[in-house]
Amino acid sequence: MSFQHIHIPENFDPITSVDGELQVPDRPIIAFIEGDGIGPDIMNASKRVWDAAVEKAYGGQRQIGWMEIYAGEKSAGIYGGDYLPEESFEALRQFLIGIKGPLTTPVGGGFRSLNVTLRQVLDLYACVRPVRWYEGVPSPMKEPWKVDFTIFRENTEDVYAGIEYEAGTPENEKIARFLREELGAKFFDGAGIGIKPISEFGTKRLVAKAIRYAIERKKKSVALVHKGNIQKYTEGAFRKWGYEVAAEEFGDYTITEDELWSSYDGQQPEDKIVIKDRIADIIFQHLLLRPLEFDVLAAPNLNGDYLSDAAAAQVGGLGIAPGANIGDEIALFEATHGTAPKYANQDKVNPGSLLFSGVMMLEHLKWWEAAKVIEDAYQATIAQKIVTYDFERQMENATKVKTSEFATAVIDNM
Ligand code: NAP
Repeated sequence: MSFQHIHIPENFDPITSVDGELQVPDRPIIAFIEGDGIGPDIMNASKRVWDAAVEKAYGGQRQIGWMEIYAGEKSAGIYGGDYLPEESFEALRQFLIGIKGPLTTPVGGGFRSLNVTLRQVLDLYACVRPVRWYEGVPSPMKEPWKVDFTIFRENTEDVYAGIEYEAGTPENEKIARFLREELGAKFFDGAGIGIKPISEFGTKRLVAKAIRYAIERKKKSVALVHKGNIQKYTEGAFRKWGYEVAAEEFGDYTITEDELWSSYDGQQPEDKIVIKDRIADIIFQHLLLRPLEFDVLAAPNLNGDYLSDAAAAQVGGLGIAPGANIGDEIALFEATHGTAPKYANQDKVNPGSLLFSGVMMLEHLKWWEAAKVIEDAYQATIAQKIVTYDFERQMENATKVKTSEFATAVIDNM
């Protein structure tokens, strides 16, 4: 397909997928969406760091061909008011891997969040958020080094599926009548009504992705997070289907926590991942008090949303928390914070969230060496107390630098 405003970089090749396996050429084309507000500042800084790390790790053998695609305010300017043009979706379908800055959700007038639309249209069903601490990063934890886990949040169903009926509308009254008269349900008059679909299909593909990640990275456990004691047929079913897919598809690699005690006397075999489950409320305490017990967590949409923001706060906050939305083939990596419009174009904010989303992206491509170069250089930079304003205000004797200067310091430390 030829594009109207997207330019495909010359002398670079598309990433493809064969039988679910990514085929990554040495000179892959990767799509990027600059983002609104602080997006251009953090994207420009991060691209310099990613490129330098690839150069450092592979000495010119590998290089990324950046292909700009458009969404948000920049897109509206180029495509005559269209905030999310069809060719941006098409480019992601064709080139599979992208990374984006934050996008403004225009207020009012029938707009859905651009992020939610991207996830739903491209069926990016897993929101993946690694949570780990880097030495020197300000943290409210007494022992932040114990925090190192990855949350897989289901991205397409649950109460976020958008099936909601406002109190007082004919649709709401119809559903309320049906629930009361046909099913004997009891609830107050005038209640807004939302539906919470959680399916076997949606659960199993999410949990399977979390287990595959755990196998690939030699993690020790996958915890299913749910509120199944109360919501038996949605959250409880998530738990049940999670255990089922572990046994059906990954029986050689996994044991349940019950089996760990009944068959292995509590001694985890080297080659087995323990599948366990935790109730959604207690997990918030456990991640604070016993973070070492968790490696990978899989959660339905709403619980996963709360949990991933709370967990990010343990290791430095959203300013440096990375994330990705991943489907069967397409993956879109993204800064997890918003556009912070009051800081737009000031070259001021922390590029950490986008920077580490890029680290996740390099790992997804299995360019482990380049990812490691960035992690090491980032750590060295923080150890030198060279930081942006947000960290500087929480540290003593730190040097405050601009976004671009921080990127330069990371590159200098490679
Ligand atoms: P926000 O843009 O995340 O900013 C809230 C505050 O978080 C900022 O004022 C700043 O705090 C801090 N912050 C955010 N990013 C930072 C960074 N890179 N470095 C340092 N500090 C950072 O949230 P918002 O103001 O609620 O939302 C603004 C817009 O972003 C809205 O249009 C919203 O729809 C959109 N949004 C987009 C996404 C996305 O694209 N994924 C996500 C969330 C929100 P201080 O003022 O304390 O320094």
